[in-house]
Formats: sequence, C-alpha cells, structure tokens
Amino acid sequence: MKRPGRTTLDRDGNPAYRSRLMPREKAVRFARCLQHNRRVRSVEVDRSPHAAGPRCWFVLWLPSAASSRERIARWMQYRRDLRAENEGRGYQFYPDPDDPDLVYCISVSEQVYELSRNRCTCPDYRMRCARAGLRCKHLRAYEMRQSDDRYNHKTRHTVRHAA
Ligand SMILES: [Zn+2]
Repeated sequence: MKRPGRTTLDRDGNPAYRSRLMPREKAVRFARCLQHNRRVRSVEVDRSPHAAGPRCWFVLWLPSAASSRERIARWMQYRRDLRAENEGRGYQFYPDPDDPDLVYCISVSEQVYELSRNRCTCPDYRMRCARAGLRCKHLRAYEMRQSDDRYNHKTRHTVRHAA
C-alpha cells in the first residue's frame, strides 16, 4: 500500500493530512493558501506538544474528496494491521472466564490491556482509534489469532475425517 503522506487526526477525529513542523508564521501563511483551495475541506494550525523551539507548528488539512479521506483512514488501519501481524505473535491473550466479553492482552512490552466489545484500554485506542473508528493492533491481533485458531481447528478436523 502506498503511503499517502504525513497523516494525523483533526479535532473531530477525522483522518487528515499534516505538514512538517515549521515556525508559526509560516504555518499560518501555508494554512491561508490551503483555505482557498476547493480540494481542501478544512484547515487547522496546531502546535506539536512534543517539539521544542519556534519550529513546533504544523498545518493539518482535510481533503474535500471522500475517496482521499478514506485512503488516509485505510492507511492508518493498514499500519496497525502490520504491527498486529508482526509483533502480535508475541501477545498473550487471556479470556476472563467470568465475563465472556473481556479478554486480557499482555503486550510484548508486558503492558496489560483489556479488550472488550471491540474496545481496548491502550493509549492508541483511547487517544486515536476510538475517535477515528479504527482498530488498534491489540484488537486486530486478537481477531487474527481467533481466525487462525478456527482455521487450525477446521484443518485438524478435516484431516481426521480424511484418514
Ligand atoms: Zn490496543
């Protein structure tokens, strides 16, 4: 999948494009240019909480075309799917016997998260996925594990019958 450029979420949780970090004055000027373009639906100038110094501002914009917005969302989900596939093998899942909706996930960094009703207690889910309608790597890894288990079960079953 081709990377669509720098992406982030806007205030309402919509997948959006973002610029590099730049001084505030430059960001405001760039935002003004984008504002008058019909291919752009909305523009924000925002400050990065992680950067220090004057180059800590960026411009965030939402494309007008629904297909472009979907493409950014697909990319954001794809990146999480890749992580689920790669590091997900190292996750441990423990379903709670007293609650059919609750599964504990121990990540590779040995953090414990709770998966319940397609929600997760990890920071990525709480801060981004919940707003944007995405699934975090823990939820995706659990889904993958379950479909693997179903597949293995079916294969074993079929083999037994064939013998
Ligand atoms: Zn998660």
